[in-house]
This record gives sequence, structure tokens and C-alpha cells, in this order.
Amino acid sequence: MKDELIRYRVQLADPAGHRYAIRLTIAQPDPAGQTLRLPAWIPGSYLIRDFARQIETLQAHGAGGAVETRKTDSHTWQCAPADGPLTIDYTVYAWDLSVRGAHFDESHAFFNGCSVFLAAAGQESAPCLVELCPPDHATGWRVHTSLPRATGRPDCAAPHGFGCYRAPDYDALIDHPVEIGTPQSITFEAHGAVHELVFTGLAPRLDLERIAADARKICAAQIELFEPRTARAPFLDSAERYVFLTTITGDGYGGLEHRASTALMISRRDLPVRGRDAAPEGYETFLGLLSHEYFHTWNVKRIKPAAFAPYDLRRPNHTRLLWVFEGFTSYYDDLMLLRAGVIDEPAYFKLLSRTLDQVLRSGGRLKQSVAESSFDAWTRYYKQDENSPNALVSYYTKGALIALGLDLEIRERSGGARSLDDVMRLLWDRYGRGFFQGRPKGVPEDALPALIREATGVDVSGFLARHVEGCEDVPLKPVLARAGIALSAGPENPRPTLDVRTRPDAGGLRLATVYEHGPAHRAGLSAGDLLIAIDGLRITDAASLDRTLDQYQPGDRVTLHVFRRDELRHYRARLGRPAALKHRLERRAGRSAAQGKKAPS
Ligand code: ZN
Repeated sequence: MKDELIRYRVQLADPAGHRYAIRLTIAQPDPAGQTLRLPAWIPGSYLIRDFARQIETLQAHGAGGAVETRKTDSHTWQCAPADGPLTIDYTVYAWDLSVRGAHFDESHAFFNGCSVFLAAAGQESAPCLVELCPPDHATGWRVHTSLPRATGRPDCAAPHGFGCYRAPDYDALIDHPVEIGTPQSITFEAHGAVHELVFTGLAPRLDLERIAADARKICAAQIELFEPRTARAPFLDSAERYVFLTTITGDGYGGLEHRASTALMISRRDLPVRGRDAAPEGYETFLGLLSHEYFHTWNVKRIKPAAFAPYDLRRPNHTRLLWVFEGFTSYYDDLMLLRAGVIDEPAYFKLLSRTLDQVLRSGGRLKQSVAESSFDAWTRYYKQDENSPNALVSYYTKGALIALGLDLEIRERSGGARSLDDVMRLLWDRYGRGFFQGRPKGVPEDALPALIREATGVDVSGFLARHVEGCEDVPLKPVLARAGIALSAGPENPRPTLDVRTRPDAGGLRLATVYEHGPAHRAGLSAGDLLIAIDGLRITDAASLDRTLDQYQPGDRVTLHVFRRDELRHYRARLGRPAALKHRLERRAGRSAAQGKKAPS
């Protein structure tokens, strides 16, 4: 068999120093001088991350010996003209324990291709071969990845083994993260497709069977949503199986989607333990995260905005549609838990009310639309600061409420015949299925109004103008009521408020955010101020602030002592009514299930 033109060898070289040693061999380099490039960002996480800054050393060799290289920008190297094959040896520092980067120590190795695989410019569509080498310092390590093995070659890796893997092009190569080590794992099938759950990190008595049983139901329900006729899993166009790569830490949380896998990070306390009937409260959070990333296998990995088809990995790719790709995904992640039967309706309503609490808490929703928030994700949503709650709206959470509002509106106006599911299926038919098989077409920026009308017969252009392009809140209460669900809201507690977000700090309580138009804002306080006393009573932490405020009524005037930098200042504030609302959703008594059938299910 002909050798691939682009070949990578990955050595786990220095576990104590966290270094990978990579050799890239380009069989037919550009005769004018080969350009090499590392992505500036990783798809799914919309921030310039400059992965190239972790490349420590780089040397190139051609047929005639050493080849001169120089950097031409932050992510790019230019090699002098040389006869092939061209070999590039480089080291990558890997000490970023996140779902986005690369990590390596004596216990395991994890990497995303964006951190370790230099692209040979001009040959991005060439097939790639990857040789993974076993570590010198440990035995018994296994490889967990959705990257297909290089079957048919003598050096092909055995299942979970070291040796050769392959990718059809560079885009695929960097879309299959790799975990190497001795993690706990379990496989399950959903509609005949193999899924693997992998857990790295200490977690004694982890209840793998329970997680696999719940994950199987969630994956099956999602496959049925998109492919009710064939029940074909989406990732079979790219891999033999889907892999959930989960890193367990003390208090981590995060996920990043890929075409046939996902990298997750979760807190140990959110995972179920063998021999205990009740799962921890946070287990729903983990299942919601798993459901979210799996839903992306359709929505954003294959159904994509046109701006991502293809990605330009050198610079930000702007789209006004992340409210569809993240917002709709955030709506369906919890809804699929309900449909799969892993949570009941009251539990689902609780998750939904939490989303309402979050969206309505921040005044930024009245200044920025979700379309604008999508477009500016790179410089605003991904670069949040103390003022973000006053200035931004989340295309995740408000996007989820928009999806709920659309779903209810479509169900009502079509007499229960259509729903948002029909929109997802039309998106899948038109843009998603076949994306990796020669139909790489993205969703145009202005496609949604016509597409929703085509899928459902319902014209929602006014709704989208008000709630997507405009900043109006989605009026859920009346449409939920007509679907048999009562939505109510009340203050979290009766305590008067300064309307601030705080964080603990030595010597007092640090103001993390001062909400606009609240008592603290009107009094002149600022994020970053260290609150030390109210009316002469010392404030040491959030609990002492609460105890002190409990002595007052809304409208009372108080004197606040704060340190701004190292200067003691005092301010007069008039305490306000509780600002944070708690929402509640309940199915109305007396409504039969049949009457309530327009509610999302
Ligand atoms: Zn997402």
C-alpha cells in the first residue's frame, strides 16, 4: 500500500517536563519552500488561543540536510526550498488540563490535534498517517480515540493499541482527540452503534454500568430524533465508534464537541458511585453535558454555519448563528434527558427554571441580541469580565429559551402537528447528512426564517426579529399556560440587597460584579472594591453580609466602608428589593396528559 504523503510520529518523550516529541514527514514538500502552520483556535471554542506558543523547538531536514526555517507570523513557519522528503522535528509543551489543549504527565497523556499537529500548507486535503509510540516510563497504557486505525497496513495499531492511525485530511486529523493511559472505560451500543465511555482521573467505585445505561438511552433518543426511519448514528461517516473522553477533577466542568467524540471535564462529586442507590445531585449536570456534546455531533459538527464550512483556523470566523448551534443544543440537551426517561418532568422543569433565572438575572440581555452575541463571541462572550452581566447576553441560555419559545409557538400554531424537531430534521437533511461525504455546505446566515417555515408551515419571522435580532425577552408565560404549564417567579428570599456578585477575599468581601441600576451602582461602588463594613459592622464573607442585611428593610440607608485599591472610602447606599428571581414551572392541576400534549416532550 502506498505510504500517506503526510506522516506524524508522536512520542511521549518527557512526562516530568510535559513534552511531546513530534516528527512530521512530508513526502512531497512545496518546491518553493514548505509552509507549516498550527491552528490559532480550536473549533467549538471561539477564542484565539495561539497553540503555537507551546512549540518549544523546531528543526527541519530535507534530502540534503538541515533546512532553514523562520517564523512569518504567530502560527506559521516558512522552510527554505528543499528536496523531499522533508522532516520536521518539534517539541510541544503539554500542561493544559482542559478539554481544549494538551496535557501529559506520568499518569496519562491527552491531546487535541490543534495543539500537536502542524499542517503542511497546501496539502491540507491529503490523507494523514499518525504513529502513536508507547511511553518508555510506563507499561500497560492504552489508546482511546475515535481516530480510525490504519487498517490494511502492517504497522496498523491493534484496537486501543499503539501503532498507526489515519485521517482522510487535516480537518479530520485535528477533530479526534486522543487519551492515552490506564483510564476506566466501558462500551455500550445505541441502535447498533458502538459508544465508549472513558474516565481519566481518580474515582474509586465509579458506577460505570449506571452511566453507560443512562448514556445509552440519551444517545438512542437523539439518534431517533434525527433519523426516525433509519436510526443510523451520525458518526459512522467518520469512525467506527463514538468516544466520550472524560477527565475527572475536583471541581472541573466543560466539554468540547468533535465529529465522533467529545472531551469532557467533570467534578468527581457529580458522578455516581457503585453500591449507592441515589446518584449525587450533580449527576444530572454530567448527563446534561454528555447530552449537549452528543447533540453537537449533528448540530455544529455537521449542520454548520456557512462561516465554518470550511473553518479558517488562522483567524476568527464570525457568524450570527451561534444561538442556533449552541442555543438549540442547550435546549435539547436537558429535553433529551426527559425524553430518554433518565429524569422526570419535575426535574426537567427545575432545569428549565434555572435557565430562566440565569437569563433574566443579567441586564445585558436588554442591550445585546443573541445574533450580536454570536457574532462577537470571540471578543466578548469568550472574554468576560466584571461588567459582562451588565453588557452581554448568553447565546447559550437565551438561545435555549428562544428554542423553547419557538417549539411552543410551532406546536400551538400547527395544532400540535409540527415542532422544533421538524426544523432540526430539515437542517439535518439539507446541510448535515453527507457533510463529510462531499457535500460540505453550511447554513447561510439568513436561512432560518424560510427554513422554519418550510419545515413547519409556521411563519416565525416576527418572533425572530424581536427575540433574535432584537433584545426582547421571550414571552414564555402565556404560551406555556396554554400548553398547561404554569410559570411563576418570586424573590429568592426577602432580604434587602445591594445587588452585587461577590467573591471571598482576605480581609473582606470582594465585589465581583456591580449590577447596573442596583443600590451599589447608584451609591458609587465598583467591581473590585473590597467591602469591609456596613454601618460600622465588619463584613468578612458572604454569610456575614447576609446576616447584616437581614437586620434591614428595602429602602433603608446604610454606610458602606470599602477599600478601593489601598484607599479606604465610604459610600451611602439605599438598600433595594431582592433582585434575583426564582422561577417555577408546574403542570397545572386538572390538565390531563392529553390536554398537555403541546408541551415539549
Ligand atoms: Zn455546545
